[in-house]
Amino acid sequence: MTSPAAIGERVRVLRLAANISQSELARAITGRDVPSNKLVSQIENGRHPIDDDLLSTLAIGLQCTPEFLLRGRHDAVSTRPWLRAYADANAKTVDSVMADDLIAHEVITTLQLKRIPDQIPLFHDDLNDGDAIERFADEVRVAADIAPDAVVGNAMRAADRLGCVVLPLVSELGRHLGMSHRIDGVPFVRVSRPGEGGVPGDRQRFTIAHEIGHLGLHSHMPPPATAADAQRIERQAHRFASAFLAPAQPLIEDWERLGGRVTLSTLAELKATWGIAIKALVVRFQQLGIIDADQATSLYKQISKRGWNKHEPVPTTNEEPIWLQRALDRRARTEPAIEEAVTIAARVVGLSERMVSRWIDWSSVSSEDVALPIPLEGRIRRTPSSRREGHGEVTPISSRRR
Ligand SMILES: [Zn+2]
Repeated sequence: MTSPAAIGERVRVLRLAANISQSELARAITGRDVPSNKLVSQIENGRHPIDDDLLSTLAIGLQCTPEFLLRGRHDAVSTRPWLRAYADANAKTVDSVMADDLIAHEVITTLQLKRIPDQIPLFHDDLNDGDAIERFADEVRVAADIAPDAVVGNAMRAADRLGCVVLPLVSELGRHLGMSHRIDGVPFVRVSRPGEGGVPGDRQRFTIAHEIGHLGLHSHMPPPATAADAQRIERQAHRFASAFLAPAQPLIEDWERLGGRVTLSTLAELKATWGIAIKALVVRFQQLGIIDADQATSLYKQISKRGWNKHEPVPTTNEEPIWLQRALDRRARTEPAIEEAVTIAARVVGLSERMVSRWIDWSSVSSEDVALPIPLEGRIRRTPSSRREGHGEVTPISSRRR
């Protein structure tokens, strides 16, 4: 028998992951507007008895099988997430993404997908030493199997090789571009999708590198206590990202070949090679002591004058990770027909196909997609055989954040 408390916990995590509010779920299970969200709140807190009827209704409302809700508490433990500019990130949205990662982690475990072990080295040097961070970036490049002077061909796949589970970020967190944390030691990274409501390729690349930076540099640290701390930590992750994508020596060699002057046209050419934004290259050249603060300011002014703050020239192709898609394919033993792999995975774990397919959807996002809950209508597949009991304690998602 799964206890009401354990079921309640699973209801909450899945509801958060699917971005459904308590009142929306109450409406879905009672068929009417409920004055308050008391019912769902009681269920989630384990204070409401759950008979077979209520279990089925909850499962329909959450688009999962009843067995999924009976599987017992999530026993995975997550570290606190690193977010770009997270001070102003909406706590509810962060909870939703964390819950979704928790479910993705459970699905990966349940399906026994073959993971690449976490290869991200851990930083033990002085975080205030820029050169130490540069050396560390070289070390991580080696771990990701990138040749010393080579351009990072695909940063998402580099993250795959380092053992990260890279999932798209579709929510208002999109404007924060990225988020990372470890669940039971597995690094999870979220990156915004491309498109109108998403981000260009060079920013995706920078974000994924930045998040790898957090996972290597800051894994031993508690979240920053002050805004100044947060800024320092962000700068460290930025420094890592630039050094990871554009190591000093080959970048400078390229720049010298182009005439050795820091102009917008030189930077545009370097962007075409290294897949790093012109503005980020200005920061990079300042980091490397090639230009001073005044020269950087002058370049920023020229960038702004040309309207490049909004749209930079030299577009960088958007990238996609490959590990999860391949692992699902392999699990389904189908050839490239990914829809089929998703169908099979969803059926085995007892979730809707939509829930699973979102994790491999890297298509362009339109502004309407942002913050859209999972549609409530959809097929539910029953899998009596997938029943499994879990055990152990988990910190409730809501009390786990900063
Ligand atoms: Zn960050």
